[in-house]
Amino acid sequence: MRLPKQNPRFGIQSPEQKLFFHLMPTPPSLDNLIREFSGLPGIGRKSARRIAYHVLGLSLDSVQDLTHAITEAKERVHPCGTCFQFTETNPCPICASPRRDRTRICVVEKSSDIEAFEAGGAYQGLYHVLGGALSPLDGIGPSELRIPELMQRVSQGVAEVILALGSSPEADATVLLIDRMLGANAVRRTRLARGIPVGSDLEFVDEMTMLRAFEGRVSL
Ligand SMILES: [Zn+2]
Repeated sequence: MRLPKQNPRFGIQSPEQKLFFHLMPTPPSLDNLIREFSGLPGIGRKSARRIAYHVLGLSLDSVQDLTHAITEAKERVHPCGTCFQFTETNPCPICASPRRDRTRICVVEKSSDIEAFEAGGAYQGLYHVLGGALSPLDGIGPSELRIPELMQRVSQGVAEVILALGSSPEADATVLLIDRMLGANAVRRTRLARGIPVGSDLEFVDEMTMLRAFEGRVSL
């Protein structure tokens, strides 16, 4: 089947071309690739199409490098048995380091939040990744989060628990629950200062904002 020629005067599709492209279905495997990409966070259907077409333009070697990188990361990276951040070793380098302050635990929602703290370099304690925040509508209750594991760690002689959980209503509810569960334990409980915009993702907060929020942390 020959593609109708483009109108040279206007550089736009002729009615025949429009009809041709309208009738031309997306090949099933390409459609499948677009669907896979559109399931990724922050990627809409349009961006997914753009990425899929970009992949089609790559050499087979580049595509194999890409798929290998995905498979390798998935196979090698797992949650640390102590703090649950993503790592290739167990315990992770932070939990294993003799230079870290073991009397402080900074509690975050997800592994990627840790990078924002580490980039500033001001914090030398340990971390604990909860795996999310309370969100009953999404089916995330206390048992879906790693709160029992946190309680277990705190009971082994920790001086301060820093609840670095962002500023969403879900984060507030999670902080409240952890505070209640810590009960009479003498451990100091702090929250980040309110320098971080409401609803923002800690992962994307810049270093200075994070540093100020951290240094100005307040007791619960
Ligand atoms: Zn760890």
